[in-house]
Amino acid sequence: MNSLTSPLASSTKSDGKRKREDTKCDDENFTVDDTSPISAHISDHDARTVARSSNGLGEAAHGQDDEPTMKKSKLLPNINPNGLSQAGESTQNGVDEIPKPAEERLKKMHDAVRTLLECVGEDPDREGLVNTPTRYAKALLFFTRGYQSDLETIVNNALFHEGHHEMVIVKDIEIYTLCEHHLVPFTGKMHIGYIPNGTVIGLSKLPRIAEMFSRRLQIQERLTEQVAHAIMKIARPEGVAVVMESCHMCMVMRGVEKTGTTTITSCVLGCFEESERRNEFLNLLRANSS
Ligand SMILES: [Zn+2]
Repeated sequence: MNSLTSPLASSTKSDGKRKREDTKCDDENFTVDDTSPISAHISDHDARTVARSSNGLGEAAHGQDDEPTMKKSKLLPNINPNGLSQAGESTQNGVDEIPKPAEERLKKMHDAVRTLLECVGEDPDREGLVNTPTRYAKALLFFTRGYQSDLETIVNNALFHEGHHEMVIVKDIEIYTLCEHHLVPFTGKMHIGYIPNGTVIGLSKLPRIAEMFSRRLQIQERLTEQVAHAIMKIARPEGVAVVMESCHMCMVMRGVEKTGTTTITSCVLGCFEESERRNEFLNLLRANSS
């Protein structure tokens, strides 16, 4: 966390119209904002994914649940107002969007994995692989089990009226998710801070919210934003800040093949737009970090 020294949001002015590439894992698709102060702290300049957030209060109010935004999203299903690729309906709506009975889905996945094995030159009937299609199908369903959860179920009314108005931070939440471009993992840590406004949320719920969104196909920017907006929606705090740092296997194992790179994204909403609050958050993140 020592790399986090800069105001997270000062680098960004999201006008909601500018088209930009999301975290494309293909090196040829990287875009970078060299004016971003945080970019200087990314350990390898080939890791061109740079923190991009700062939705501001106005943007916070126009989160994924905002009606006009939703209408706009349906017109432009792939790009949200922040210029990030938009989650599919199933990602947004969770459990309601799982149409197939489990058994039928598993059979389709099994057949698809068999096809994949054949296409890479393997014999899916050899001993070592004979159960792999079913095994992989079940594993993939586990990796993406966040599609079968929704925010209300996760939080389960663990909201409490409290007069606490100081910053609450849960840091080092382990994240294991799949890059939606390559279906390979990216893993890392997420740090969540919020300042309650009369309502506190059960502490264990913050990692659970992060877990729900990370167990869907993701890009890091969207994952970071979804967690922040979800907390904003459910607890109505004065502000939320989310920082995520991760390592993308699709960069390590293919593409630019750079190991040791860290991708950092952030999303600050509400009072964390103010530099004083943001810096307090960053300083608390750095505390006890080695
Ligand atoms: Zn990827």
